[in-house]
Amino acid sequence: MEKIFLIRFNEIFLKSNGVAKSFLKILRKNIQIQFKKHNLSGLINITNSRIFLTDFQESEIDLISNILKNTFGIDSFSLVDKINSSNQEDIFNFIKEKYISYISENDTFKIKARCVNVGYHTKDIEIKVAELFKGKVNLSNPQKTIYIEARDNMAYIFTEIISGLSGLPVGSAGRNLVLISGGIDSPVASFMMLRRGCHNIYIHFHSFPYISKRSIEKVKDILATFSKYQNEIKLILFPFAEIQNHIKVSSHPKYRIVLYRRSMMRIASMIARNLKCKSITTGESLAQVSSQTLDNMAVINNAVNILALRPLVGFNKNEIINIARNIGTIEISNEQEEDTCTLFTPKHPNAGTSLKDIKVIEESINIEELEIKLLEKIEVMNI
Ligand code: ATP
Ligand code: MG
Repeated sequence: MEKIFLIRFNEIFLKSNGVAKSFLKILRKNIQIQFKKHNLSGLINITNSRIFLTDFQESEIDLISNILKNTFGIDSFSLVDKINSSNQEDIFNFIKEKYISYISENDTFKIKARCVNVGYHTKDIEIKVAELFKGKVNLSNPQKTIYIEARDNMAYIFTEIISGLSGLPVGSAGRNLVLISGGIDSPVASFMMLRRGCHNIYIHFHSFPYISKRSIEKVKDILATFSKYQNEIKLILFPFAEIQNHIKVSSHPKYRIVLYRRSMMRIASMIARNLKCKSITTGESLAQVSSQTLDNMAVINNAVNILALRPLVGFNKNEIINIARNIGTIEISNEQEEDTCTLFTPKHPNAGTSLKDIKVIEESINIEELEIKLLEKIEVMNI
């Protein structure tokens, strides 16, 4: 008998054989890199329906669980006892010896078996094993469950199924550039793109020296919490102050927000192309603020012709806040500091800006020239 982790994936099943294989290879690499980072032992063995993790130390179990819980592409996992036999008698005797104290007289319980290629039915073994225990059987809401998975000539016994994050392995969808502010929304948008398998690269536009460097620190703190999902985190810092100032002194306040956003999108799309990112992503949510009306989003979107994704577009603010709370970014986002844009934000931005007007202004102030000049001043760092 040996303790191993049995890891289940879900959506990868839906892929064709070749695609599933390459996704599982990425998943294995992501787990291996986290293991290396934490100095853990353990071997990963992938079959077409399960991943098995073996040869770790007992003292490493908690840390391994934590890594598996934060690895996209894993649907659920269990720490299991592996028996080198699927014989009913052997399973029965094993449970009698090792699990008899797990279910007491006062517990309600269920035995849940899954049998593949073993020559007997799940019900046969479930009934036989259940007779070992004095507790009361409750199939719909038991306090304790013993799971038996008998497959070919092996069996796995366990009591817990721990949920993973699901989604797809980070890196399987290609690269994506996220526009990240210190706010609540863009970290959540980043998380959603990681969950769908993107390798995210991040860009933050800062207004130093007009405001402190705290917004940069905030973004770095948020990204540090993502190191459990993503093995390599690259942050690009773009000095946006000169552009903001230029827009501020040369345009009517009602156009400013849209001009800032279009400028950010243009810069992001140039950098994305350079870094071979297939898309850019923002934390915009429809009608959350006046720059995010359909009219304004269309004008903002028109600044670029790269695929621009907005994974939060249909979410309510409270839903976004709940996700931010679950993923642990809300505390950092909520720290008070001047947002890059608040300093330059007019009180009443236009909710329906005309593209024609915007284009005339942009041309008259030579904004794109300034954007290209400032591209030379970006800083790149690894978190
Ligand atoms: P967030 O909570 O992400 O800041 P928000 O609701 O405050 O979003 P806006 O400030 O209008 O919305 O920004 C919309 C989107 O533009 C953000 O979600 C983010 O993707 C991007 N963005 C805004 N400011 C910056 C910035 N300083 N650096 C990088 N991206 C930014
Ligand atoms: Mg913001």
